[in-house]
Amino acid sequence: MIPVAGAIAGAAYIVAALLFILSLAGLSKHETSRRGVTYGIAGMVIALVATVGVTAAGAWGRPEAVTGLVLLVAAVLIGGAIGLWRARIVEMTGMPELIALLHSFVGLAAVLVGWNGALYETGLEGALADIHHAEVFIGVFIGGVTFTGSIVAFLKLSARISSRPLMLPGKNALNVGALVAFVVLTVWYVVTPELWLLVLVTALALALGWHLVASIGGGDMPVVVSMLNSYSGWAAAAAGFLLNNDLLIVTGALVGSSGAYLSYIMCKAMNRSFLSVIAGGFGIEAPRTGEEAAGEHREIDAEGAADLLAGAARVVITPGYGMAVAQAQHGVADLVQRLREHGVDVRFGIHPVAGRLPGHMNVLLAEAKVPYDIVLEMDEINDELSQVDVVLVIGANDTVNPAAAEDPGSPIAGMPVLRVWEAPNVIVFKRSMASGYAGVQNPLFYRENTQMLFGDAKDKVDEILTHLVKEAKATNRS
Ligand code: NDP
Repeated sequence: MIPVAGAIAGAAYIVAALLFILSLAGLSKHETSRRGVTYGIAGMVIALVATVGVTAAGAWGRPEAVTGLVLLVAAVLIGGAIGLWRARIVEMTGMPELIALLHSFVGLAAVLVGWNGALYETGLEGALADIHHAEVFIGVFIGGVTFTGSIVAFLKLSARISSRPLMLPGKNALNVGALVAFVVLTVWYVVTPELWLLVLVTALALALGWHLVASIGGGDMPVVVSMLNSYSGWAAAAAGFLLNNDLLIVTGALVGSSGAYLSYIMCKAMNRSFLSVIAGGFGIEAPRTGEEAAGEHREIDAEGAADLLAGAARVVITPGYGMAVAQAQHGVADLVQRLREHGVDVRFGIHPVAGRLPGHMNVLLAEAKVPYDIVLEMDEINDELSQVDVVLVIGANDTVNPAAAEDPGSPIAGMPVLRVWEAPNVIVFKRSMASGYAGVQNPLFYRENTQMLFGDAKDKVDEILTHLVKEAKATNRS
C-alpha cells in the first residue's frame, strides 16, 4: 500500500513541478500571466493532495500515525483559511510587506525542519550521516537568515521601523565574520554533531539575517524583497533535502534561482552592485542623512495647475507610491482623457521601482484603463522630459530625486531617476515636505521650476478636473 502511494505521490510531484515551471513561464509575460497563476494554483493543489494522500496511506492501520495526519490536515485548513483571508483584504500597497512576512514563514519552517532532522534518530552511518548533518546545519542557517531578514524587511516595508540603513561599526567585518564562523561550525558539526553547535548556528543565523537587512537602506528595499524571495527558495530546497522530498527541492531551486535573477536585474536597473546588496550593503560607506536639503519652495493651487495644463501642449505624468496611497489612478485617468480630448499630448513616465512592488504603477494605470501606448518606461521618456511643457509628479519622491544624479554623497547616489527637473514646469503632488521611502530629502522641491501642490493626490486631481470643466464651460458661453 505505502510503496504504491509513494509512487503515485512521486508522479504527482513531477506533474506539480512541471506546472510550477509553466507557471513561472506564464508569469513572465503580461498576456500569459493569468494562465501562469492558474498553472501555479493547479500545481499547488496537486502537491497538497499528494502530500495528504501519502500521509493518509502511511497512517493506514497504524493508529499511532493518525495524529500526524490530523495535524497535517488541520495545518493545511487553518493555514489555507488565514492565507485566503489575508489575500482578500490586503491592499496593493501592502503586498510587499505581506510577501516579506510569508518569506519569514518559509525560513522558520526550514529552521524547524532542520531541528527536527537533528533531534530524530535517522539510523544513518558513515558518509550518509555526515551528509545528513551538513544538510541539517545548512538548512538551519539559510532558514534562520531568511526568517529574521524577512521580519526586518516586513517591519521596514510596513514603516514599523525606520527604513534608514543601520550602520554598526565594522558592519562588513561582522557579516564576513559570521559567514566564516558558519563554515567553521559546519565542519565541526559534521565531525561531532553536538546540539550546542546547532544552538549556536541558529543564533548566528538569526542575528546575521537581522543585521543583513537592517543594514540596507530604503532605496534598496525592492532588491531586498526579491533577494529574500531567493533565500526562501533555497531554504525550502534545504528542507526538501532533509525531508527527502523531490518537489520541495525542485520548487525551492526554482524560487531560489528566479529570485536571484530578479535581484540581479533589479540591481542592474538601479545601478547597484548585486554582491554589495546581498552582502547587506557591503562596501557602502555611511551616507549622510540627506536631511539637509532646504531653501524656499513655491506653492500652487489646483486652479493654477489647471490653468497651466490648459495652456500646455505636451504633458508627462510621473506617478509614485503616493498615487497608490491616494487611489488617485481613476481621477488621473479621467484627467488624462480630458486633456487628450483637447489635443494635449499626455504620456506617463514609469520608474522601475516606483510604488512598492515591481510593476505597481503599471497595474494601477491598467486598472484605471489608461491606454498602454502612452505608458512609457523611464528610459524611453527621460531624454524627452526637457521638451515637455509640464510634468505632473503625482505622489512620487525618491524616483524623481535629482540628488541621485547630482550628489555623490547621497544615500541614493547612482540610482537612475526620472529627470523631471529638466522640464520648464514641474508640479509635485504631495501632502507635506516629508521625504520619500529612502528617507532622503528631495532638492527638486526647491527648484525654481517646481511648484508644490499640497494635499491628497486624489482630491487635488479631482479639483483640477473640476476647474478644467468649469473653465471650458465659461469659454463656451463667452
Ligand atoms: P516614495 O515612497 O519615495 O514617496 C512617495 C511620496 O508620496 C511621499 O513622499 C508622500 O509624501 C507622498 N504621498 C503619500 N501619500 C500621499 C497622498 N495620499 N497624496 C499625495 N501624496 C502622497 O515614492 P516613489 O514611488 O517615488 O519611490 C518608491 C520608493 O519605494 C523607492 O525608494 C523604492 O526603492 C522603494 N521601494 C520600491 C519597491 C518596488 O518594488 N517598487 C519595493 C520596496 C521599496 P507626503 O507624505 O508628504 O504626502
